[in-house]
Amino acid sequence: MALIVQKYGGTSVGTPERIQKVADRVIRTKRAGNQVIVVVSAMAGKTDELLRLASEISSSPDPREMDVLLATGEQVSIALLSMAIREGGLPSVSYLGNQAGILTDSKYGRARIRDIRAEAMKQDLDDGKVVVLAGFQGIDGANNITTLGRGGSDTTAVAIAAALHADVCEIYTDVEGVFTTDPNIYHKARKIKRISYDEMLEMSSMGAKVLQIRSVEFAKKYNVSLHVRSSFSDLPGTIVCQEDEAMENVLVSGVTYNKNEAKITIKKIPDRPGIAARVFSEISKNGIVVDMIIQTPSSKGGHANLAFTVPITDYPKALKMIQKLAKELEAGEVVGNEDVAKVSIIGVGMRSHTSVASRMFVALAGEGVNIIMISTSEIKISCLIDAKYTELAVRALHDAFELDKSPREESL
Ligand code: ADP
Ligand code: ASP
Ligand code: MG
Repeated sequence: MALIVQKYGGTSVGTPERIQKVADRVIRTKRAGNQVIVVVSAMAGKTDELLRLASEISSSPDPREMDVLLATGEQVSIALLSMAIREGGLPSVSYLGNQAGILTDSKYGRARIRDIRAEAMKQDLDDGKVVVLAGFQGIDGANNITTLGRGGSDTTAVAIAAALHADVCEIYTDVEGVFTTDPNIYHKARKIKRISYDEMLEMSSMGAKVLQIRSVEFAKKYNVSLHVRSSFSDLPGTIVCQEDEAMENVLVSGVTYNKNEAKITIKKIPDRPGIAARVFSEISKNGIVVDMIIQTPSSKGGHANLAFTVPITDYPKALKMIQKLAKELEAGEVVGNEDVAKVSIIGVGMRSHTSVASRMFVALAGEGVNIIMISTSEIKISCLIDAKYTELAVRALHDAFELDKSPREESL
């Protein structure tokens, strides 16, 4: 008997009709002779609605109470889905994160799963019940409710699949799989049949929200192969798995964009040892993760301009902090810019091919898009650009690398 983990995102459980459809699929899977754990997100828009509610009460809500609030979204959907499965004639039991023994650290809003005490769920599975588990939430060592960050239900699903050695982990969503770029941005995007963990990690961290980055980290670490597919059809989706030789033959497998970063520039900062260390230690002390960095010496010498990007959610805090620090360092003006976007190309094939970067820059230049910053890794190149050119840049890069024709992909 196989153990199957199925995860359904917000849109897939967004209405009572859709919950009914999910219940039908779960029942089919169970009746085919499998054990089934279903992980569900909050109904579409619910988490955003809760965030809005909190912002009407406080401009900086207490993080602990925020997690208590956000975790309620998933409580609604597990109860409704479990009821629907029971209506369909199968025994089913819902579990909140704390009931399921999902133990996390205490970092509210971005907690990491440390351990899963799954005995109760295992017993229910052995008793022939379907287990319906709330995604996105857990409990810390002091019994506080925690949440795993936006998109965290993906991580709950992969973690439970790893902990229980599930045979399959299926991620059901509102698109047919992982595409060469966001299919809602470019109609020429193609579904990728197989993608390596490393490429998927880059895709997720560069903005493709179809899988939360931590879920891919977990999947890679515990070698859980993922099947990302549509909850609206039975078509096969994308398998996220270990790299194989065929993957190396494709130069670029995807294009991503991320509008959730902002740029901060410190002008005329003293150009001497220890200054960058001071700036970035201060930022990291405040728990802010810096992404791209560029330093350009001024022509007269003695000073430099230092620019970097931070997540947009940390931007107001980072800007305030840097303004204060710039005064202490006797630097010049501090300039912030929220109207930036990062476009990236990703592919394991880049490791063994030259001229990928120049092809990217030529494609952007061809559309008159100015590059503000560049960063690279072994399998990725990112450019920071003016946000208003995001869609244009994504399409130009998709065309330049002929992703609509790539052999690893199949058309929509
Ligand atoms: P769920 O609610 O099911 O977790 P998400 O909204 O988190 O779904 O993720 C699915 C969305 O990810 C799609 O609707 C799509 O717009 C977006 N997306 C961005 N990049 C990609 C990509 N490369 N392939 C597929 N989907 C992508
Ligand atoms: N409900 C949470 C969110 O909207 C978690 C998830 O959907 O994965 O981010
Ligand atoms: Mg998601």
